[in-house]
Amino acid sequence: MARLDSPSSINTFKQCQRRYYYNYIIRLPTKENIYTLRGNIVHDVLEKFFKLNLEKVDNAHLESVLKLTLLDLLRQGWMTRLRKIVSLGLPQERTGYYFEETRQMLLTWLDNFITTLDKSDLKSSFKEKVPKYQEHELICEELGLKGIIDAVHQCDDGILILDYKTSRVDEMKVEYKLQLAIYALLYQQKYNQLPSRVGIDLLKHGQRIISVDPSLIELAKKEVAYVKENTTSNNIADYPKKPSPLCKWDGGACDFYEVCQPFDKAQPL
Ligand code: SF4
Repeated sequence: MARLDSPSSINTFKQCQRRYYYNYIIRLPTKENIYTLRGNIVHDVLEKFFKLNLEKVDNAHLESVLKLTLLDLLRQGWMTRLRKIVSLGLPQERTGYYFEETRQMLLTWLDNFITTLDKSDLKSSFKEKVPKYQEHELICEELGLKGIIDAVHQCDDGILILDYKTSRVDEMKVEYKLQLAIYALLYQQKYNQLPSRVGIDLLKHGQRIISVDPSLIELAKKEVAYVKENTTSNNIADYPKKPSPLCKWDGGACDFYEVCQPFDKAQPL
């Protein structure tokens, strides 16, 4: 089967073609870090949160139950991955900091979520907010494209696609917009229906939503075609390095820094 690109691989190619080569052409192993592990935990927590059975909870206690359950899901998710987190070798206080930051992000997310519920009937309102699909994988062989959408909501004005983000920065980055554009394209290919809106749900800051219009779909098609056209080769020389602050930063580095040696002038770019 031909290689399937994803929003992640397409954004990687745009950021550094050599990184794309290492990751997606010769498939060198990648390493987990605290941000990828935390992202996985948070996604699991929110997926399970929306599967809660609230039948036996009365409205008066619903907010407290939601809060306690969310925190319990976080604790379970963190403990399940504790061995991996410890293996990162971070100082204990640093790990504690990330746990607390994640806890605060989820509580902020919950506060925002609760404000969207109808106070007169919290339980029914909660049910209406449950996504139509969660962790929804879409594959389009024709475009050589795949993606996993965090949440698809059926709203009054049509479909809303959301991607959860644990970023500290309140910004619709260019790569986020392209990721969402690709999801809209994949959704249209699968269901023959264009989503009305797409957005990021920044747990720390709230949702940032954009409308889907033909220009967004064109952006996705153009970028996907560009990456496809430029990734037919298996020759490393066709994937230049792009040395930048994303190669190495305080406390982290690109997964391929050692093999790449981006700042070694003796090595050809
Ligand atoms: S170390 Fe820098 S130049 Fe090398 S693959 Fe990673 S991002 Fe690209």
